[in-house]
Amino acid sequence: MGTNIDMTEYDVIVVGAGPIGSTAARYAAMHGARTLMVEDHSFIGSPVGCTGLLSTKAVSECDIEPSDDFVYNSVRGAFVHPMNGECLPIDGKKTKAYVVSRKMFDRRLAVMALEEGVELSLNTRVNDIETSSEKQKISVVRNGQPETIEAKVIIAADGVRSKVAKMAGLGNVSKVLPGIQVEVPYRSDDTDFVELFAGSQVPGFFGWAVPVNENISRVGMAIDPKYGVSAHQVLENLLTQNPHVASRYGGGKLDLVMGGIPLGPLEKTYAKGVLVVGDAAGQVKPTSGGGIYTGAVCAKIAGEMAARASAEEDSSENFLLEYDRRWRGKIGKELAMGMRIHNFIGGLKDSELDELIGSMNNPAILDTITRYGDMDHPSILMKKMLHPSRSVHILKVFRAFAKAVL
Ligand SMILES: Cc1cc2nc3c(=O)[nH]c(=O)nc-3n(C[C@H](O)[C@H](O)[C@H](O)COP(=O)(O)OP(=O)(O)OC[C@H]3O[C@@H](n4cnc5c(N)ncnc54)[C@H](O)[C@@H]3O)c2cc1C
Repeated sequence: MGTNIDMTEYDVIVVGAGPIGSTAARYAAMHGARTLMVEDHSFIGSPVGCTGLLSTKAVSECDIEPSDDFVYNSVRGAFVHPMNGECLPIDGKKTKAYVVSRKMFDRRLAVMALEEGVELSLNTRVNDIETSSEKQKISVVRNGQPETIEAKVIIAADGVRSKVAKMAGLGNVSKVLPGIQVEVPYRSDDTDFVELFAGSQVPGFFGWAVPVNENISRVGMAIDPKYGVSAHQVLENLLTQNPHVASRYGGGKLDLVMGGIPLGPLEKTYAKGVLVVGDAAGQVKPTSGGGIYTGAVCAKIAGEMAARASAEEDSSENFLLEYDRRWRGKIGKELAMGMRIHNFIGGLKDSELDELIGSMNNPAILDTITRYGDMDHPSILMKKMLHPSRSVHILKVFRAFAKAVL
């Protein structure tokens, strides 16, 4: 792969062959654009910066059927552990998410892009872009050699600290949570459920144990950097000092994953000749840090719009702003509500969070969560939870929550 390519001129060039880059490239090619995808690394799908917990919707949004090639486990719910140790079991009653090999998942998406005619160049790093003339000039170092490629439109899918978005004058997402995770020997109580750890044990976000099988889980967390604590130390404490985790953790580490989770989308995701997508654009759910579903929704629009811009020979801001309008129309409100939920929960004391989580441990609420809980669209559940038919007590507990998020 990546040899014998005439690297001179393309309709669309996609920077970054992560899941979102591959999806954007595939859609550009499907809409008739001669498309090149360039990737800094000399391989697809690693190093992994992800837990690999993908909602059923995320997998289908990527146009893939779940298969043994990349799925290790399926989960249907979560055990939520607040600081007071009183576990809240949430049972979705059917498969809600898959635990996947991100390496194999990313490779599947890259293959699908190649099948649509996308050309792929590995070991190719974009160092500079020049977008002032009609065609965009992209300076790359490919296999150690500097080259210049021309394209009508650049799609920046180069991840959380996107160099391309910055060079296009769009900046980077301002809030990035450090995330860290280890794959460890871990005796899971029930591999159909993930475990979530909330409160000051993981300041500003949450921790997780995601079962790969009954003997191995991915234990990790993200924190808000404003608390000034070391992510490594918080993870170590979760593994060894949280009584629930410590009693299941077998000791040792099999794998270490680190990365940044962007919170809140860029104000503007287009510039003359450039579209920004995925983590590069901050298209990530602020409630969970998951970026595959939201990124895939936007990548399809980016691919289609880039192909249209190149067919119509119009890569002006005026033309490309439709991308920004369309993706915000699909997921903008959901991301904004997710941000309000993130800010509200992050501002609670442990005792308040314990009360909020405890108040959900009630058959009527759990039934509502089972019926309407959707990892990718928390607003659906929010509206059901805050319906006026709820008991006065529940509405009282949720009043502040409702005020903050709706
Ligand atoms: C700890 C952690 C756990 C997570 N868990 C989940 C989860 O369970 N579920 C979920 O949905 N999401 C999860 N996420 C988020 C998810 O990993 C990202 O949203 C997703 O990988 C974004 O895909 P992307 O294609 O936009 O960017 P990336 O996957 O980051 O891909 C960007 C690509 O661009 C390449 N690149 C960068 N710069 C250049 C350059 N100059 N030239 C050429 N190539 C370049 C990189 O090498 C990389 O391959 C997690 C994130 C973290 C940090």
